[in-house]
Amino acid sequence: MLIDFHTHTFPDSIAAAAVDRLQSAAHIRPFTDGTLHALRASMNAAGVDYSVNLPVATLPRQVPQINDTAARINERTPETGVLSFGAMHPDYAGWRAELARVAALGIRGIKLHPPYQGADFDDLRYLRILERAGELGLVVLVHAGLDIGLPDADRAAPAMIRRAVRSVGPLKLVCAHMGGWRQWDAVEALLPDTGVYLDTSFSLGRVTPNGDGYPWAEAALPLMGDAQFVRMVRRFGAERILFGTDSPWGGQPDALRRFRETPLTDTEQAAILGGNAARLLGLTKRRAMPNAR
Ligand SMILES: [Zn+2]
Repeated sequence: MLIDFHTHTFPDSIAAAAVDRLQSAAHIRPFTDGTLHALRASMNAAGVDYSVNLPVATLPRQVPQINDTAARINERTPETGVLSFGAMHPDYAGWRAELARVAALGIRGIKLHPPYQGADFDDLRYLRILERAGELGLVVLVHAGLDIGLPDADRAAPAMIRRAVRSVGPLKLVCAHMGGWRQWDAVEALLPDTGVYLDTSFSLGRVTPNGDGYPWAEAALPLMGDAQFVRMVRRFGAERILFGTDSPWGGQPDALRRFRETPLTDTEQAAILGGNAARLLGLTKRRAMPNAR
């Protein structure tokens, strides 16, 4: 079973504008047009059984609408393989009731993004969301570390994640980008004993510039090397690592090829590529539905 734990899609009506805005901010190349249809085509090409879609509420008022859309996407998961998380925003006044509604809708988790939501991850507004999500059994996936599109917003640093996890009750927390994008030494120092999961998105390999004339320094292109990646997998335990691509900001076939080149054992790779995610999300293999749109 192959599960991509970190993807993004946008409603058809806004996908082109959203992808354009984000690639201009980050100067990186998109690998699809950002629609659900394009993600499905990519999954077919790469042999991905399920993709987890992670919507971000950048404004509080977007929260209920995003969660309604997530529930609609999930009605078709058996056909499409796309499973959507919901969203929450630290300034959404009805956070408590909305989290209960998310759980009642059968949505398995929520996405939080401190740099884009303008709050530190150990802020009380996030802690109360984490506490409640844990009580409801919702998985929380947080953008972790720096963000390529907002390089000055240091709001999801490993030290903040450590403080947050130690302040709340039991919680299934996934820290994206191997626990902290471009803060990997601190992740290794501060997070192995916290019980958090890490997703692999945007960690191995190199940044792929979009060629818009922005002068990337050569030294800024390489991401995490194989040696640190393998060391981190073994320090955290392969059972706590989830394969993710950040599609459309990574290409699923390329990311899979790159991951399979690492010297991890077949057992470790199988767990990371799908076994762990299937357990965390309660997913079983989909029946082949060749005619599904
Ligand atoms: Zn992402």
